[in-house]
Amino acid sequence: MKLTRIKGFSDVLPGEVETWQRIESAAKRVFAGYNFKEIRIPVLEKSELFSRSLGESTDVIEKEMYTFADRDAKATLLSLRPEGTAGVVRAYGEGKLHQVEPVRKLYYLGPMFRRERPQKGRLRQFHQIGAEVFGRTDPFIDAELLLLLRDLWEELDLPQTVLEVNSIGCADCRPGYRAVLVAFLEGRRGELCADCDRRLENNPLRVLDCKRESCAGVVTAAPSILSHLCADCRLHFETVLDLLKDLRPEPLLNHRLVRGLDYYCRTTFEWKAGAGLGSQNTVAAGGRYDGLAQSLGGPPVAGVGFALGVERLALLLSEGDAGEPVAPLLYLAWMGEEAQRWTFSLAHRLRRQGLRVDLEGEGKSLKSQMRRAGKLGARVVLIVGPDEMTKGKALVRDMARKEQTEVDFANVDESLVEPFGPPRQPQASGQIT
Ligand SMILES: [Zn+2]
Ligand SMILES: [Zn+2]
Repeated sequence: MKLTRIKGFSDVLPGEVETWQRIESAAKRVFAGYNFKEIRIPVLEKSELFSRSLGESTDVIEKEMYTFADRDAKATLLSLRPEGTAGVVRAYGEGKLHQVEPVRKLYYLGPMFRRERPQKGRLRQFHQIGAEVFGRTDPFIDAELLLLLRDLWEELDLPQTVLEVNSIGCADCRPGYRAVLVAFLEGRRGELCADCDRRLENNPLRVLDCKRESCAGVVTAAPSILSHLCADCRLHFETVLDLLKDLRPEPLLNHRLVRGLDYYCRTTFEWKAGAGLGSQNTVAAGGRYDGLAQSLGGPPVAGVGFALGVERLALLLSEGDAGEPVAPLLYLAWMGEEAQRWTFSLAHRLRRQGLRVDLEGEGKSLKSQMRRAGKLGARVVLIVGPDEMTKGKALVRDMARKEQTEVDFANVDESLVEPFGPPRQPQASGQIT
């Protein structure tokens, strides 16, 4: 039997992983600038957390979660997390973070799991970077999150980004809109898909984001929630838009951006990028969820956040991406046991000075070691054989210039650390090192 990976689960191999690392470190830099702190939550949670936060009758809960009974006496149902928000909200309440300081800006990154129908670009283990802000009800934080993402796209050189925004109102104004929407959709019921026919009864707002063409056609003509917002919600939304007025291209209003659950309110948004991905070009999505923490039994704090898909982002960035800049590689070629010992300890000394060093493990011909050094992209190869050991001199070959020089063993470390090591920090006087 040949062992293979599970359908919908993917390896990120060297060659691709560099792009992932670049995304992660750019995100960490941008989050730090906005004073976000990282939070790490478990991959596995009690299933109930997700059924309560995402709603029993959603596709994720009904069909897509990896759920199984634990081996405890009660056979507790556990699920691999299908998204990050619920776990972060739980951790915020359980860790009593609100008692110390209710306003928290948190971010997370890691794998999420949904057993979706396999299709191109849709994995069952996928990765998200997400942010959640607790304790802020003002529109400034909504705008801050959107500008944080804009900064991230710039940091990554992500092409063709555009922001779509909407407001879905609040418990005061949404019911009025809902009635108007239902009346409109009733009139065109025959044109809706079977799913939307059901949604019309229990979750009519979800009809607005149905991906089917027939429903999308109906929905374009549907009344917009933006003309049914109460005064507070309108002011909130207008302030967000005003804070984003320097954004280019300008944000697009999209009244089809909705969330199906009651605790979502006001701002919802999606960032899209790249012309190539078509309908799948959403790279980040989020919104405000003021009632979620309380609905999970936590403190009554407001929340707003987003999640972005790392796979999709990596796909948009991967072409010609060299990843984070890394130090040039030094390769140590040796011949004979004595030279092997000598280069082994040299490698260790150089690495401790911050250099990137590799060397052969087994006795190979110089020719094959040089070939390997070339394959690895080594900038410099240091060559030591029995002759060099006798003379106390090493050969240092610059691979690009194809030049070779002789260096005394006594000066080898210095001659390599100087040009290839990390830049020296100027030392302040009186500093203890
Ligand atoms: Zn309202
Ligand atoms: Zn539909």
